[in-house]
Amino acid sequence: MSYEPKRFDFSIPVRINLYSDTQTRPTRAMKQAMLDADMGDEQGGSDPSVWALCDKAAALMGKEAAMFLPSGTMCNQVALATHCRPGDEVLAHVDAHIQGAEAGGPGAIAGVMVRGLPGPRGQFTAETLEAAITPVSRYAPPQRLVEVEQTANKGGGTVWSVQALNEVAAVAHRHGLLVHMDGARLMNAAVALGVPASEIVAGCDTVWLDFTKGLGAPLGAVLAGSREFIGEAWRWKQRLGGSMRQGGMNAAACSYALDHHVERLAEDHANARSLARGLAQIEGITVEEPETNLVFFSTEGTGLTAADLAARLRPHGVMFSISDTYRGRACLHLDVSAAQVEEAIALFRQAVNR
Ligand SMILES: *Cc1c(COP(=O)(O)O)cnc(C)c1O
Repeated sequence: MSYEPKRFDFSIPVRINLYSDTQTRPTRAMKQAMLDADMGDEQGGSDPSVWALCDKAAALMGKEAAMFLPSGTMCNQVALATHCRPGDEVLAHVDAHIQGAEAGGPGAIAGVMVRGLPGPRGQFTAETLEAAITPVSRYAPPQRLVEVEQTANKGGGTVWSVQALNEVAAVAHRHGLLVHMDGARLMNAAVALGVPASEIVAGCDTVWLDFTKGLGAPLGAVLAGSREFIGEAWRWKQRLGGSMRQGGMNAAACSYALDHHVERLAEDHANARSLARGLAQIEGITVEEPETNLVFFSTEGTGLTAADLAARLRPHGVMFSISDTYRGRACLHLDVSAAQVEEAIALFRQAVNR
């Protein structure tokens, strides 16, 4: 068995990339910021651009301290391993990224069990969490951490309200559990709610945000929490090989993204709504109402699987991702314009009706 990704077919150009907001390319201005970055040795504490990014991101999220890591996946793994001991239980939505998309990292690295909580739109309520709390006993795994995803990716890019988050955090804290947020698309939520990120994550003990999704940087994520937590987390960062050297070049791209690519996420959300409206008018396609930059749709009424439809669109340079047999996901981001959305709708219509 090989787990290596299949090499992309570069002979067919991609014109409208709705596959993922991870596939954005750094803009020329972002690359210039990278070229101009002051650098040092990140792992030796002497890279000024990394420190600047950490301070900026910690302030944005209203936390005492932050660390720069290569990916969001590593942020989750470092956080779980720092918060928990082997045998502990983490409670997260059944569709959470840590459950299904991190190669079993929670079991393999932190040694924790993850209990999947049910709930529509990738979210669970405080009542659902309360019902999953087990009495402390010799038998049950020690429940240590609650994990929430903002926005809930497989839930449809849905936004947790501040109130729902605070209710969940209150239940967790009342039972002595900590709260960790996978904030891969936290800034999409902040823009959609019109609420500062720090307010959204006030109830979370730790939180990270990704720079390689809609923010458009080539690499990097920042994990934030108390000074004590970040201090301890550094051992896991080092252990997993997440301590970098001239990280400043990438940190500069992330700082640039915070300065220039946050407010514009509103354009992606508007484009998502346009795409959803257009796709919903195609016979046989049903669309989940988008809340941010992700548009999930069903192809079932067309008789085509999501993969069938993707294969028909690929020669036209249009790509989306497949979430399930009949469920597709189209992602809006800074490399997709409003005009391209209109073009994509026309090509989808043509592909379905072919
Ligand atoms: C993309 C994503 C991650 C992982 O982030 P990487 O930077 O790709 O490792 C984690 N959680 C969610 C919800 C994501 O969408």
